[in-house]
Amino acid sequence: MAPLSVDSLRKSYAGREVVAGVSFALKPGECFGLLGPNGAGKTTTLRCCLGLTAPDSGSITLAGEPVPARAREARARVGVVPQFDNLDPDFNCAENLLVYGRYFGIGDALIRARIPRLLEFAGLAGKEKTSIRVLSGGMKRRLTLARALINDPDLLILDEPTTGLDPQARHLIWERLKRLLADGKTILLTTHFMDEAERLCQHIAIMDAGRIMVQGSPRELIAGQIEPQVVEVYGEDAPGWAQATAGQFSQRHEISGETAFCYVADAAPLLAHLAQHPGLRTLHRPANLEDVFLKLTGRELRD
Ligand code: ADP
Repeated sequence: MAPLSVDSLRKSYAGREVVAGVSFALKPGECFGLLGPNGAGKTTTLRCCLGLTAPDSGSITLAGEPVPARAREARARVGVVPQFDNLDPDFNCAENLLVYGRYFGIGDALIRARIPRLLEFAGLAGKEKTSIRVLSGGMKRRLTLARALINDPDLLILDEPTTGLDPQARHLIWERLKRLLADGKTILLTTHFMDEAERLCQHIAIMDAGRIMVQGSPRELIAGQIEPQVVEVYGEDAPGWAQATAGQFSQRHEISGETAFCYVADAAPLLAHLAQHPGLRTLHRPANLEDVFLKLTGRELRD
């Protein structure tokens, strides 16, 4: 049984559809990434899945329960890491876990027995009595992750788990999420970091304007959605050069700032041409998930 399945989900705010017919299903044990630029509808989708926002239509089954009808029962079997840390600053680390566990009706003795192992998992061993106020951003995220595990869930839902963290803190979170996957947990995460998605996710859905545009493994998306090679050209009016030679050496090009991104099946003719233009510098690399994402969702800034 799918830990979460969503069929034809729709949600409008003030007459604008922000989730416009979204369907997907998670396989047990996989990490499923919901990707999209700001405003794509990712958080609204997650909130509907958890029964925190009422959908206009569509059906959701979470942990075997229909949502929103039995959302509370479903949530008791799922771990949630929200986008913004909502730890209680008036409580210490252990108290935060205790209060959260009680919310699910877990007895104090069982919660207390779980706390040392959860803090150890979060890299916070021995910090039971430490105030939330002195924790770094990375520590707070890890404590929120530990808190999400208090009910020993099979499915974890994480909304942008590493936004705002420095590279060291991000790597530590990734390592912990990989451990959870190795233990057989299923993970649904939203992110706009392509390296995060490529590293962690077996399955990716790219969403924009309330719709899922494509779904598949990172490898499938790269192979199916984009030319295999990219030559980034910059220096000495690269955009002007790209306009002048459009279509001659590359299937497709995009301009971003002072860089021309040339997408090609075979880079050799383009590289030979560029060798005669020493003012232009180049970076030749395989296409990646970010190229797919930018092709599908565009390069314009989203607020
Ligand atoms: P994402 O998580 O992909 O950034 P969201 O689901 O947060 O996207 O938002 C999708 C759109 O819905 C945005 O335009 C946002 O402003 C709007 N939106 C989200 N929640 C509400 C709300 N409670 N009331 C009105 N508009 C909302």
